[in-house]
Parts: sequence; C-alpha cells; structure tokens
Amino acid sequence: MAGYTPMMEQYLSVKATATDALLFFRLGDFYEMFFEDAITASRELEITLTGRGAGQEERIPMCGVPHHAAEGYIARLIDKGYKVAVCEQVEDPASTKGVVKREIVRIVTPGTVMDSKMLGDASNNFIVGASQLNGRFSIAACDLTTGELYVTSFADSIEAIKSTLNVYRPSEAVGDESAIAALTADTNLTTRSLLTTVRETADLEKLTEQFPDEQWSSYEPVRQQAVAHLISYLDETQKRSLAHLRSVKAYDSESYMSLDAFTRRNLELTETVRDRSRKGSLLSLLDRTRTAMGARLLKRWIDQPLLNREEAERRLDAVEALNQDWIKRKELRDELGEVYDLERLAGRIAYGTANGRDLNALKNSLKRIPSIQMLCESLEAEPLTQLASRMDACQDIADAIERAISDEPPVTLKDGGLIRPGYDKKLDELREASQNGKQWIAELERQEREATGIKSLKIGFNKVFGYYLEVTRANLVNLPEGRYERKQTLANAERYVTPELKEKEALILEAEDRMFDLEYERFIALRDEIAGQMARLQRLAESVAALDVLQAFAEASAERRYSRPSWTDGEGYDLTIEEGRHPVVESVNENGVFIANETSLTSADGSILLITGPNMAGKSTYMRQVAMICLMAQIGCFVPARRAVLPFVDRIFTRIGAADDLVGGQSTFMVEMKDIQVMTEQATKRSLIIIDELGRGTSTDEGMAIAQSVIEYVHNHIGCKALVSTHFHELAHLESSLSGLKNGCMAVKESADGVTFLRKLVPGAADSSYGIYCAQLAGLPETIVSRAYTLLNDNGSINTPNIVTSREVATAVEAISTPPVAAAAPAIGVVQLSMFADSSAPAKSQKPSANDKLLDKLRKLDVMRMTPMQALEWLNDARNQL
Ligand code: ADP
Repeated sequence: MAGYTPMMEQYLSVKATATDALLFFRLGDFYEMFFEDAITASRELEITLTGRGAGQEERIPMCGVPHHAAEGYIARLIDKGYKVAVCEQVEDPASTKGVVKREIVRIVTPGTVMDSKMLGDASNNFIVGASQLNGRFSIAACDLTTGELYVTSFADSIEAIKSTLNVYRPSEAVGDESAIAALTADTNLTTRSLLTTVRETADLEKLTEQFPDEQWSSYEPVRQQAVAHLISYLDETQKRSLAHLRSVKAYDSESYMSLDAFTRRNLELTETVRDRSRKGSLLSLLDRTRTAMGARLLKRWIDQPLLNREEAERRLDAVEALNQDWIKRKELRDELGEVYDLERLAGRIAYGTANGRDLNALKNSLKRIPSIQMLCESLEAEPLTQLASRMDACQDIADAIERAISDEPPVTLKDGGLIRPGYDKKLDELREASQNGKQWIAELERQEREATGIKSLKIGFNKVFGYYLEVTRANLVNLPEGRYERKQTLANAERYVTPELKEKEALILEAEDRMFDLEYERFIALRDEIAGQMARLQRLAESVAALDVLQAFAEASAERRYSRPSWTDGEGYDLTIEEGRHPVVESVNENGVFIANETSLTSADGSILLITGPNMAGKSTYMRQVAMICLMAQIGCFVPARRAVLPFVDRIFTRIGAADDLVGGQSTFMVEMKDIQVMTEQATKRSLIIIDELGRGTSTDEGMAIAQSVIEYVHNHIGCKALVSTHFHELAHLESSLSGLKNGCMAVKESADGVTFLRKLVPGAADSSYGIYCAQLAGLPETIVSRAYTLLNDNGSINTPNIVTSREVATAVEAISTPPVAAAAPAIGVVQLSMFADSSAPAKSQKPSANDKLLDKLRKLDVMRMTPMQALEWLNDARNQL
C-alpha cells in the first residue's frame, strides 16, 4: 500500500474485508466508491465517474452519492444482484486527530434488505440456508423483516428442492458447496437471479447462541447445518442484534401437499403463466385480507395445502362461521383494517430501526385486539374461540407506549418531541427550564420594545449566532447608542446581543440539549423493553394473520358463492363435484357467464376421464377447475361448486401445454416426458393427475402410442384419479378395455350458422376437432381453409365404434338441456358462442387474393336465375381464372 494517503490506506484495509461487496465509504456527507467499485457503480447507477488523487501519480477512479439519498442507490444495486457494504465513521471527527476511525456497520444483500419501501408489504423476502448431508437435503428460510424462520428437510432430490424453493422464492442463498450447486443447477428454479454464497463449514455453536431454548440435539444434523449457515451469515452481514429471530419453525415437507414447480405454474396459484403477474392468479382472487401479514400468510397457505384433514376441517369451520355472519365479518374486517404490519413493526423494534411513529402504530394496532377477540368469541365457532384465546393482546405494551410517546412524534429520534410531558420527572424539569427561559426571552422582547419605542424590535434565533435582538435599519436612529452589543449586520437590519441574553441562551440550549438526549435515552429504553417482549408480539402477529386469512376466505366465498366442501367418508376416495366452476376463469369472464360442469371420478364411474373435443372447447379449463377445487378445499377455503365431496389428495400433478420450458431450452416433448416420468415415479393411489394434450409434440403414431401406454400405466399401476385430454380421438376405444376409464367430450353444437361451443362436458368422444373452424376463426385466408377441408375429406376420417358423432353430441347436449343449470345458479347460464360472429372480422382484414375474389363472386352468384348453360359458362370461366 506504499504511497497511498492514510485515508486511502484505511479504505484499502476495509475493502480487503469486503471483497465481494461494493464498499460505500463514508466521507463527510457522501458515500464514496473507489477503484473497480467506482467503475461498476457509476455504470449501474448512471452517475458520473471522477478521479481523486490518492498519494500516487495516477488519480484513482471515484464516484459518490449523497448520504441522505444512499438508500435509493443501495436499493438499485441490490436489485441488480450486488451486495453493498456500508462503512461509516465511528468516531466524532471533531474529537479526533488524523484519520477518523471507520468500520463496516452493515452489509446489505438481496436477502437481508430491511427497507420496506423496497420489499412490498404483501410478499416476504426470504434468504435460505441450504445443506446436503448423507442423501438428505435441508432448507432453512428466514425473512429478516418479520423474524420468521422455517426449516425443513427431505430425501435429496431435485424435485423436492424445486418444490421447497417454490414456496419461499428466495432472493439469496447460503450453504455448503454441494447444496448451493444443487440449488443453482436448474436455472428455472427461481424467478429472479439468486445471489449465492458458499460457506465452508457450519458453526453449530451459533445455534445455541441464537436459540438457547431449542433442543438442537433432537434436530436432524442436516437441518442444524442449514440453520447454522444461515445464522452465521446473517450475523456477519448484519453486525447487530438478531433478537427478533426467536424461534425456529421446523416442519416435515411431507406435512404439506407436494406441488411441483410446473403444477404451481400451470394452475396459476400465485402468479400467471403469461406474465408472472399476481393479478389473474388464485392468490389475487382470494386476497381479501386486510393486513399485510395476512396477505403474506395467504400466499403461504396457498403454496402449502394441508395433508391433515382435521386441520383443514378446523379452517373450514372458522370460514363457515365467518361466512354466515356478514355483519360481524364486516366489523372484523374494519378492525383488521386498522392493524398495521405487526410482524415488520416487531422486526424494526428488535432491529433498532423503529421510530416514534412506529411505536404509535404498534400501540394503535394493539388497541384493536380486544375487540377483535370479542368478535371472534361471539361467532361461537370453536376454532375462532381458540384463536381469540390464544391472542395475547399485549395491552401492557400498548399502555407503556401510550404513557411515554407523544401523539405526533417526529420521524427523527434526536430532535426531541418524542416523549409525553409527565412521563419523566427530570425531563419535565428540563422542559420547564427551557420553557421558562423562552418565556423570559419573550418578556425581554416586550420590555425592550417598550423601553426603546421600537415596535418592530424582535428576538430571533439561529443555529450559528443563537438568540439575538434585531432592529431594522429604519429604526436604528431610535436605538440609544451602546444599549446592546452589535453582533451581525444585514442589508436592512442590525442584530445585537446582551450578556443577559447570552446567559439565558446558554441555559436554554443546555436544557434543550440535555432534554433531547434524555428523550432519546428514554425512547431507546422503551424500545428495548418492547424488544424484550418480541416473542409475545410475534405470536400475536401469527394469530392475527391466521384470522385475517380465514376472514378473507369467508369474504371471497360469500362474494363468489362458493360452498363448503366435504370429504369422502372413510378410506374411500371418490370425487364428486356438482356444478363446479373454475374460480379464476369465472371471475374474469366479463359478462359473468360461466358454464358449470359435473365431475364424477368414483369407483362406479371410473377414476380416469379421457376428454376429447375441439380446441377452445373448454377442456383445459375443466380439468384445471377440478384441480383448483381440490386444492382450495385443502387450504381450508370454500370451493366454486354447488356441492363437492372430495378425497384428501396427497399430490396434484399437472402437465398442461402452455407452460413450456422455453427459457430452459427444452423441447415441449422432452418437458412433457420428464413431467410424466416424475408423475409415474411419485403419484400414489391418492393423487390427482391432469394431463392436457397428452402425446403432442411428436409424430402422430408415436404420440398416440405413448399416450395410450401412459394412460394404461396410470390405470393399471397407479390407480389414482386422472383427467386426460387428447386430440387423438382414436384413443376413445380404451373405454372398452380399461374398466376405470370413461370417455367424455366438450359438447359442440353444429348448425347452419356454424359451430357453437357449449362448454359442457358430456359422455362419449368427439369425432372432429374442428381445427379448421378454429383456423377460420383466426382469420386464415379462405384458400387455406377450403384447401384444408378438401384434404380432410380426401383422407377420410377415422372412425371407431366408440366414437359418437358431433351430431349425436349435440343431441346429447340438447337432452341435458340448459335450463336446469341456469335455474340452479341464476348467474351461471349457458353462453352460446358463435364462431361466425367473430370469423368475419379478421377474414375481412386480409388482402383478397385472386382466388378469394373468385370465391366471393361464387358466393354472390344468383344461381336460381341462371340457365344451365349460363352456369356451365361461368364454371368454365372460373376454372380458367384459377
Ligand atoms: P381447450 O383446452 O379445449 O382448448 P380452454 O379450456 O382453453 O379450451 O377454453 C377456451 C376458452 O373458453 C377459455 O379461455 C375460457 O375463456 C372459455 N371457457 C372455458 N370453459 C368455459 C366455461 N365452462 N364457461 C365459460 N367459458 C369457458
């Protein structure tokens, strides 16, 4: 380091301890960056790169940001995947000689951001610790802002890792080398870039230091390691108390329904496939929560459907009680709406970043708890009563804040105004002294005006000169010479002081200084005292969050006319849904018309339904709706159906066309086969399988062969419930060889005006895919459309004895007739969507070709008024034009 200035030497030694982070080095009012860091930061933040002499010949690259605006810049860098080490001056520059001591006070990383502006209230920000040991894998996930810490473990497999990561969607991961390699092996695992840090060994002592009450010896070693990695990393980066990490919630991944990444995506549970937005997902549909903690817990419940029937029943009991009493539900929603984010408030208190306003927000929230408890009790449902009795309203904390903190404290902590009068004797004395002093000054102003006769004479204050008497230039003639000491001359006034004024000023300022210090001290003492109650606050937050989700379920269920599902008795696992609907498709249907459908996967009706029918007929909506209904029931919510009797499913597998792994660079077919491989390996008798367009993506013969053998395998070896759609109508013959398989098809009505999708599932198989109609609908040129019809007719259609014709389907649909559906659920009628209404528009926009013109002429031909000879001539002409 020879040749550098002492300050630069200090910089370099600090930087050596934070090589993987950008170092924000505090110099006065700026954070400066040097060397490579400066080049990177100036590029990423689009700020000017300058240079600075550092004792050597060449100037070194430098850039800087003002300290008061640093948060925003740090946030941007974190968002781009960098770590930022914040290095502060830790000594008062006024009292030191030479270079001021500086230290890194915090390393901000994507998983440890505390700034709520950056995070959004409705989602957690998880950092995970991961470990791999003897064929086992463990993931520990922590949200530093709320103090939650979960740990789970499972047999080491990429599927299980994916499934767990999908629940947490971490922004950062730390762990041993092999675990990190496994987490990053599949680039499609996480939605955003995952910042990873490899740790060599896990410091198990950290566990007892941080969680002295946990029985660590009863934890599986791999779990201990995962938590230890995480805690050590947090400790090193945060460099402050992690007091709000109080307890570890350990769970077995087998306690929740396992959902692979594709299934989560296909069912659009928390985000849509198309643009990964929350809007349009089941989460946003059900999110009628009133608190941020409720919104976060809702996501967790959707991500982790229950496998415990009693627990699901308890949730449903609570939802039912809330659902039935809309007046109390409204009152409860109003109360919850006044509760702030208790988890994040608690986090800030423990973290030492909460200000007076945060404490008041806590107080105001706590004040709502007693009436929330009363409302819960009055609903007289056991789970709600229990929830209410588990809530510790923490009124002692609310009272302590009420006594101490003024009604409108400032954001800052060191400028007074925080503590209420009457809270602290010493503080009151100081306040009185300063007030007396100020009164004395007001009195002096009055006296001096009288004595000099100058009405505009005033006493002012500024930070540089303190208190002063001010006389305007015009009035100076009236001021007796030598009455005051001149202090400062302004353009149109003179400022003076007197020895007495200075004396009082010293008293006032000292009292204020001491007052501010004391207010700060008292504030910190109170905050620390509350931090000591962290566990109580966190437990309360948990109960409030759970209540909020339950009322959200009740609210959504009432609004959308969902009904309480019941479970198939005993060991049976028949599945019956009457008038089931797809919750999301139903909600986005603008005219509000959604056609309800029946589902019966029972020992009598068979457990596999093979669905054929044209594109756009509603096959995948139907299949997804069955999965959604099962899933909603297992998170404890009512379901979109008139009646649903469901088995408790252990897993839902879906293979649905649209979500191809284009990013991962895999072909559609390969992805499909991989999904099916996972399914054959892991599905049990109690699973639900959904496969859309089985066998597409390869040649017809092969695709059909694979589709048939997969269906046979599911039927003969797994024996679970399955909904399979296919465009191979030929597969319908399986109904005669597989006893548990039934054919179904989405009804389509053909008439002189075209084709109408009835969106109704009827027994039997369809005979035509109406693909050419769809092409026409999409606006393809007439020539292509008519050529396609010719080819189709030339090839002849394949008919097997089991296939019903579309006319028969239409007749069947008419036989089930629409009125009963409409009558049972008035808003759910049958919509008749005519293709021709739409098809004319796009076709018109095409530029007509010669053949199109010819066809047009043909259409307009008034054949009835032509002689046979004229007709023949026209035909001959037309042929010549082709
Ligand atoms: P398929 O899988 O047969 O190609 P989809 O399930 O994708 O068809 O449905 C096509 C469109 O039809 C969907 O976008 C949806 O808006 C509408 N739809 C599907 N099912 C229904 C229904 N039961 N009621 C009303 N509209 C429906």
